[in-house]
Amino acid sequence: MAHVTLTNVRPWGAAPVDIVMSGAEIHSVVPAATAAVDGDRLDGGGLLALPGFINAHAHLDKSWWGQPWVSYGGEATTQGRISHERAERDGLGIPNPSSATAVLGEFLRHGTTAVRSHVDVDLGVGLRGIEVVREAVAAFGGAVEVEIIAFPQDGVMRRPGVLDLLDRAAAAGATAVGGLDPASIDRDPVAQLDGLFGIAERRGVGLDIHLHDGGDLGAFQIELIIDRTLRTGLHGKVTVSHGFALGELPANRQQSLVEACAEAGVSWATVAPVRTAPLPWRGMRDHGVAIGLGTDGIRDLWSPYGDGDLLRVALGFARLHGLRTDEELAHAVELASRRAAGFVHRKVHDIVAGARADIVLLDAENVQDALVRSPRRELVVAGGRVVVQDGALRI
Ligand SMILES: [Zn+2]
Repeated sequence: MAHVTLTNVRPWGAAPVDIVMSGAEIHSVVPAATAAVDGDRLDGGGLLALPGFINAHAHLDKSWWGQPWVSYGGEATTQGRISHERAERDGLGIPNPSSATAVLGEFLRHGTTAVRSHVDVDLGVGLRGIEVVREAVAAFGGAVEVEIIAFPQDGVMRRPGVLDLLDRAAAAGATAVGGLDPASIDRDPVAQLDGLFGIAERRGVGLDIHLHDGGDLGAFQIELIIDRTLRTGLHGKVTVSHGFALGELPANRQQSLVEACAEAGVSWATVAPVRTAPLPWRGMRDHGVAIGLGTDGIRDLWSPYGDGDLLRVALGFARLHGLRTDEELAHAVELASRRAAGFVHRKVHDIVAGARADIVLLDAENVQDALVRSPRRELVVAGGRVVVQDGALRI
C-alpha cells in the first residue's frame, strides 16, 4: 500500500517527527527528516500535532447547523425543553439531512474525527433520525467515524412502544441504547433501567443514560445504574451522560460513587456546562473512571450555544474545574482526544504506530497554548485522508 508521509510536526508539542501513514493507519513515527519518503509527502511546517478529537456526546440528528437562526424558547427545565422541542421540530423538518451533514462537516473542520451521537428514537420519528445520520456520515465517505446511540428523548416507560423501538435500533446497528432521567421523566426508575439493561444484555450493546436529575435523586439513580451494571456483567459498556448530581454531592459521597463507578467500569460524558458543579475529575482520573467530552446538541431547540469545536469544550472543562498547571491543561486536551478512545471502541487513539491516522495540525506553541487560544485547524487528516487544509473543509 502506498505511504503518505506528514513531515516535521510536533506531536503534543514534543520534538519534531515525520509521521508515515499507510492507508487509514499510522505506519510509523520517526524523528523529523529521517523517514524514507516513498510516496506522497505533506509538509507539516513544524506545527503542533494532536490526535483527532473525539466527541463523546453529540446530537447529530437535531443540531440546527447551516440553517436560519431559530429563537430559543420553552421552559428551562428538562420537561420544558422536551415539550418545546416536540411542539416545534415537525414544523422545522427535524431530523434534517442537510443540517446533519452541515454539523458533521463543522465537527470535521475543527478536527473531530470520531463521534458518539445520540439520535432521537420515539413514537413520532421512529428510527428515521438514525437513517438521516447514517446518510450524513456516508456523505463524508468514512472520514469521520460515528457511533449511534438510540436515544429516548421523550421517555421510555411513559411512552409505550419506545422500548420496542430501542430494541429494533440496537438490532439494526446502534452501538448503545440511551436513557433519560429514569426517575423524573418516567417516574419509574426501576422499570426504565430494567428495560434498558434488558435490551443491552440481549443485543450485546452498551448503555448511555442522560441524567440531569441533581442531588440525592440523581445520586440514587447513579447507584441504581452501578448496581445493574455489576449484576449484568456490562462492565465497561455503561456511560452516564451529564450526571450533574455527582458534582453536587459532599466529598465522601463523591468518593464512594467514584470508587463504585470504577469497579463497575461506568464512564462519564460531560459537556462541562457553565453554572454546573465541577466533577471530582482528579478522583475519577486516579480511579480510572473515563471522562469523555462532548458538544451536546448545537444551536438546537434545547440551546442556542455551541460551535462544534471540541477544543473549546475542553477549554470550558478546564475553566469550570479551575485547571491552571501545564499538566492539568494538557489533561483537558487529552480528555478530548487520546483518553476518549474507549468511547468510540478504539484500543488506542494517539499519534503512534497502529492508530487510525487521525491527525490535527495547529499553529500553536504547545498543547496549553492551543487549548487557551483554540486556533484554527491548519490541516486535518482523517483515516489517512486530508480533509481540511488551511482551516477549510476539502471534502
Ligand atoms: Zn445530550
